[in-house]
Amino acid sequence: MTAAIIDGKAIAKDIRAELKEEIEELKAAGTTPGLAVVIVGEDPASHTYVNSKEKSSKEIGIHSEVYRFPADLTEEALLQKVEELNNDKNIHGILVQLPLPKHISEDKVIDAISPEKDVDGFHPVNVGKLVIGKDTFYSCTPYGIMKMLEKENISLEGRHVVVIGRSNIVGKPAALLSLMNNATVTICHSRTKNLKEVTRQADVVIAAVGIPNYVTADHLKPGAIVIDVGINRNEDGKLCGDVDFNSAKETAGAITPVPGGVGPMTITMLLYNTVKSARAFAAK
Ligand code: NDP
Repeated sequence: MTAAIIDGKAIAKDIRAELKEEIEELKAAGTTPGLAVVIVGEDPASHTYVNSKEKSSKEIGIHSEVYRFPADLTEEALLQKVEELNNDKNIHGILVQLPLPKHISEDKVIDAISPEKDVDGFHPVNVGKLVIGKDTFYSCTPYGIMKMLEKENISLEGRHVVVIGRSNIVGKPAALLSLMNNATVTICHSRTKNLKEVTRQADVVIAAVGIPNYVTADHLKPGAIVIDVGINRNEDGKLCGDVDFNSAKETAGAITPVPGGVGPMTITMLLYNTVKSARAFAAK
């Protein structure tokens, strides 16, 4: 069997086109969605992500503000900036790019962002709402996975989803969103025993491990849907996922590639959440 390829890039493009139209309607009614991104320090990968978020926002008509601070910015100054943005009527979404320098508490900064503007879905209030099954801002990568499956007409209802990874930004929210979509869910992690036996029972495998090419055909039931969240570099410095694509595609029924799978959906859902927030503020 050769798996169908789930084209995240094409799905992301469609969603962005829908958002662009929605933004035009919001603008015509007097609201321009605004996203503020704050970055501290010089980490090149983080700067690349932030530039990409800025560019993508502008492309669809979101008002974008980026605040770039040196690595020695104090925690107090960052908290003050967040508070300023919480009170800024032109801003509907606030994102503080992680990781932050060691002397700044990420928890304190996330807690300081107004839950109403927390378009990353990291604030404990929004995580709590996800846990109890309420509509809120969901973490962008797992939410992107759910949107991608929805657009491909792949229902999770009654299916066994196995998530490999339990991070707060990917694994846990992916499991909770799958549950919300009526899947039967298993979460695996570094202490899971006989992982292959577990994943071989899965109708859907979501791999968020951070180890290049970790999931192979051996982990999969024939026909399984495989979602590869990983963004890694292999020994040759080439971008690769957590799934060994060439091996897995011979057993899977459908699979996301890296690049061009989950990646493009993440920023798309950040834009989606910003528009959702602007709509909510406009309705007040
Ligand atoms: P983390 O490092 O925070 O979490 C990795 C998880 O994998 C942990 O729960 C860990 O278990 C588990 N794990 C580690 N080794 C094993 C193992 N041998 N077997 C089973 N489970 C294991 O990573 P993230 O969740 O932040 O990211 C995961 C991947 O997704 C990375 O490649 C990252 O680059 C990528 N990513 C991609 C995004 C995108 O937009 N496409 C966005 C965010 C991340 P334990 O908890 O026990 O340590």
